[in-house]
Amino acid sequence: MTQRTDALKGNITNEMKWAANFETRNIEFIVNGLKNGTICIPHNKMRKKQYYYAIGAGLSTKVNANIGSSPYHINLDEEIKKMKVSIEVGAHSIMDLSLGNQIKTIRKEILKQSPVMVGTVPIYEMGYNLSIKKKDIIDMTIKDYLETIEEQAKDGVDFMTIHAGVTQSSFEKMKNEGRKLNIVSRGGSMLVAWMQHNLKESPLYEYYDEILDILAEYDVTISLGDGMRPGAFEDATDRAQIEELIILGELTERAWDKGVQVIVEGPGHVPLNKVKLNMEIEKELCHGAPFYVLGPLVNDISAGYDHIAGAIGGAIAAYNGADFLCYVTPAEHLRLPTIDDVKEGVIASKLAAFSADLANGMDYAIKQNRKITEARRNLDWDNQIKYSINPEKAKKYRSESEIGQDDVCTMCGEFCAVKRLNDIIKDKTDGQV
Ligand code: SF4
Repeated sequence: MTQRTDALKGNITNEMKWAANFETRNIEFIVNGLKNGTICIPHNKMRKKQYYYAIGAGLSTKVNANIGSSPYHINLDEEIKKMKVSIEVGAHSIMDLSLGNQIKTIRKEILKQSPVMVGTVPIYEMGYNLSIKKKDIIDMTIKDYLETIEEQAKDGVDFMTIHAGVTQSSFEKMKNEGRKLNIVSRGGSMLVAWMQHNLKESPLYEYYDEILDILAEYDVTISLGDGMRPGAFEDATDRAQIEELIILGELTERAWDKGVQVIVEGPGHVPLNKVKLNMEIEKELCHGAPFYVLGPLVNDISAGYDHIAGAIGGAIAAYNGADFLCYVTPAEHLRLPTIDDVKEGVIASKLAAFSADLANGMDYAIKQNRKITEARRNLDWDNQIKYSINPEKAKKYRSESEIGQDDVCTMCGEFCAVKRLNDIIKDKTDGQV
C-alpha cells in the first residue's frame, strides 16, 4: 500500500492526518489530491519521521536542501551539520547527493537522524560503485540499478530521482538543438553516455515497470528527473526540454497506475519572462503532478550569488504553480557548499516560498507577515526579530546598533518616521477622546 493507494481505497492514514493538520486543510482535500495525483506525501514505510509534509497543489510551498559529500571532500560530521542547519532554518526535505567512499554510511546516518523526508539519486551510487571497480557507467546493467534502488528503499529513502525521461528521442532532440550548454544534469549525462555506448534505449525507460514495482512496495515517491533541463539561459524551453517533459507526462500516468506517488522535476536556468510559462507547461503535460524546480536561476552570471538568482526564479515559479523548490547555494557552479552556504541557500529559498505563499493568500504566511507589520509599527524589536526569516541574523544586526536599547534604530534615529507618526496618531486619538 502507498499513500496513493490508501487514498484511492478510502483509507485515512496518520500521515494524511498529519499533513492536513499542518496545512490547516481538511482531510478530504489531502485525500482528493492524493487520488488525482496533484498531492503526494513522500514517506517510505520503512522509516519513522517527525514531519510528514505533503507536497502539491493548494499546499504551502516546500523547500529542499541538497547535501552530500563529493569524491574530493568526504566528512560525515559536516554533512550531518548541513542537514541539521537546513532543518533548523526551515527546509522540509533533504536530498543526499553523496559521491565518494562513504555513500552508504552517510545515507544511513542521514536517514537515521533526519526528522524530515530524505531523497536520493540512485544512479550516483551506481556510477561510484562502478568507478571503484575500474568500470564506467556505460557498464551499468539494469540488474545493478534495480538492486541499488531496492537497497536504498530498504534503508528508508522517501523519494528518488529517476531520470527515466532521458531517452533516445529526447537526446536526439538535444543533439539537433544546437544548445549553448549541452547537458548539465549529472544523471542525464550518465544515461546519455550509456545509450551512446550501448546503442540501446535507456534501461531506466525500458525497465520502468520493474522500477515502479520496487518503489510501490516501499512507498518511495518517484521524482522524475529532468536530465535535459536547460543549464543556460538561452537553452530554456527548447525542444529537448519539452520532449523530455512529454515523456515525463506519460511516465507520471504509468506510475500512478501502479500506485506510485509522483513528483516531476524541472529547470534549471529560465529567463524571468518564461518562468510562468514553464510552470503551466509542466502542469498541462504532467496532468497536475507536483512540480519540483531547481531554482530556477534567472540568469547565468550570478556565481557567488546564485542563491539570490534562484530565489528570484523560485518566487515567480512558486507563485505560478511550482510546489517544491530545490534550493541553490552561493557556491553553485563553483564548489561543494559549506555549512554556511547551505544555511544561506535554504533561507533564500524559504524567502521565495514565503513570498509566493503570501501572495497566494496562504493563511500561515499572512499571519506571520502581519505579526512583523504590527511589531514594526509598535517598534517592538523582540517580535520583529522573533518572526523574521532568520531571527539569529536579525538579532545580531539589532544588537550591533549604536542606539542600543532605544526604541528606534540607527537608520534614522530621532527622525524615525514610525515613531513620529505613532506620536501624531496617538495625539490625535487622545484629542478626540
Ligand atoms: S529609525 Fe527609521 S528605519 Fe529605524 S525603525 Fe524608525 S523609521 Fe524604521
